[in-house]
Amino acid sequence: METYLTFTQINDFIFCPRSIFYHDFLRSNYAPSNFKESPQIQGLSAHAAIDNGSYSSRKDVLQGTTVFSSKYNLLGKIDLFFLNEGRLVERKYSITAVYDGFRYQLYAQMFALNELGHQVNKMELYSSKDNKKYVVPFPTQEDIAKFEAVLNAIRSYDLESDRSEPNLLKCRNCNYREICSFFPEEERL
Ligand code: SF4
Repeated sequence: METYLTFTQINDFIFCPRSIFYHDFLRSNYAPSNFKESPQIQGLSAHAAIDNGSYSSRKDVLQGTTVFSSKYNLLGKIDLFFLNEGRLVERKYSITAVYDGFRYQLYAQMFALNELGHQVNKMELYSSKDNKKYVVPFPTQEDIAKFEAVLNAIRSYDLESDRSEPNLLKCRNCNYREICSFFPEEERL
């Protein structure tokens, strides 16, 4: 049986395909507190109230609920889903641009909710650092085709045969740079 992907892998893969390997390596070998850096910790604090279910006591809000799309074989958590409004919200610590990875995470959540019989009427990204909301439009057929192409790319990705040059601008901000063999020696502290 094909292994499922997680919602967060989509965003990670778009940032850098190699990061998926290092994320999995660290997750299976170390406690999260040993490798989470500042941006991740900030990201975690943005989700903390949701993960422990204390963001809202309203019965009409799903928070931190694990959902699964059997169509795409995708597993992950939704941050907030307001059942009465059909409003789906993904919170990040800081959003400076609506990247494809953010949109695709919301698409994945929406597809999984649809399979559970929930209608999603609105999708939003929320940046807690500056209290800004970004409405994410529903995907067109072209968007869905690109989303599916990314899932296929993740499933067929082979680290060993990836000969692409690393993007140093990304590497310098990457949480895995100290263990990534593609991060140049001269850039290490
Ligand atoms: S250090 Fe660079 S090549 Fe390595 S996972 Fe991070 S972004 Fe990718």
